[in-house]
Order: sequence, then structure tokens, then C-alpha cells
Amino acid sequence: MSINVEQKLGNNKYNVDESNPHIVLKTGNIDRKEIKKLINACPAALYKLNDDGTLRFDYAGCLECGTCRVLCGKTVLNKWEFPAGTFGVEFRFG
Ligand code: SF4
Repeated sequence: MSINVEQKLGNNKYNVDESNPHIVLKTGNIDRKEIKKLINACPAALYKLNDDGTLRFDYAGCLECGTCRVLCGKTVLNKWEFPAGTFGVEFRFG
């Protein structure tokens, strides 16, 4: 039996802190090259393009890998920190 990435990610449990996003993007124009980096690199595919070319992001499915912080922490992100206390991803491999 084989499963795809989406199914595997769907096994994880996410306890989202709705009142305190752990990743916040900068506002305003963002360099297209930086956007492309994020779209290609995020393993959870949380960075997407809207029809008008603006960047869409939802921190709710974040795997807390830190890839976006390493790649674009100075150019795109205003904030990146681990979720507080009991919040965040709980990995399930079954
Ligand atoms: S930390 Fe990893 S999973 Fe979370 S948004 Fe950044 S690249 Fe995606």
C-alpha cells in the first residue's frame, strides 16, 4: 500500500493557536524570487499564489521545520517562532 504526501501530512494533528500566529509575513510588495522560493520549499505547501499574484499563507498546517525562516527570514517574514506551550504540530507516522 502506498500513500501520497497529502495523506501522510493528514495524519498529523495540529493544535493551532488562533490568537497568536507563530509566523507572520511582512506586508507590502514582496520580491517574486522570494515568493517562488517559499512556494517551492515549504514541505507543507502553505505558501500559495492568489490569482492576482499576491502571496497567500496559512500557518495552521505548519510543520515547524524552519525552512522558510532560513530562506526568507529577513526578506518576507516579520516573525517566526515556535508555537507556544501545547500548540503546534503533533507528528503521527502511522
Ligand atoms: S516552518 Fe516549514 S512547514 Fe512551516 S511554513 Fe515554514 S517552510 Fe512551511
